[in-house]
Amino acid sequence: MKRTRNYGFTLIELLVVIAIISILASILTPVYSRAQEKARQIDCGSNLRQLGMALMMYTQDYDGLYPIAYAFWTGTLNPPLPQVPNLKTCLDSYIRNDQIWWCRSWVGKYGYYAWRNPRGGNYDFIVPSPNTHPVIGDPTTGRVWSDASLTRPSEYPLLFCGSPWTLTLNAHSGISDEEFFQGGGLGTINILYADGHVKIQNLTVQRWNQLYMRPR
Ligand SMILES: [Zn+2]
Repeated sequence: MKRTRNYGFTLIELLVVIAIISILASILTPVYSRAQEKARQIDCGSNLRQLGMALMMYTQDYDGLYPIAYAFWTGTLNPPLPQVPNLKTCLDSYIRNDQIWWCRSWVGKYGYYAWRNPRGGNYDFIVPSPNTHPVIGDPTTGRVWSDASLTRPSEYPLLFCGSPWTLTLNAHSGISDEEFFQGGGLGTINILYADGHVKIQNLTVQRWNQLYMRPR
């Protein structure tokens, strides 16, 4: 009897191929998402650098004084402090591109009141006191930061990608908020310093408090 050769795949062969493809996919997906996160991190650094340049132009126009401003938007304190503009309003004439105010790693993550708020952005000030953190300068006393008072601007952190309100310091670590808090809180954030340079930093909540939440 003549046996006809079947050139198609058998079910077993098909299953083996599917298994191999799914193993490869599971290996490559984390690599791909890490590469994507790296790209967002670089974009975010460029946003912060441009915000730093705008702040420098602002201080040059205002005799070396920083604005008294909220980072996000007015009215987040209850009761809201009167006459405190937000940073975006202050830097409006120096920055014409709205997208600079938003980090892509933040999309839909935290700060529902800030995200996509046309008046706000997701970058927040790093200020020494937990009580005043949404604002730079002191609106109650009118005390304004001046660039002359920042003796070592290259060591003085101004803005970062994250939120001290929720202690979300994991904008660029590629892990969820839950993983961040469960795993001892090792986060990755971009920080803009007063001299205009931006640095990516890995740090825990404890380290964050030690470095930035004490009076300077
Ligand atoms: Zn960012």
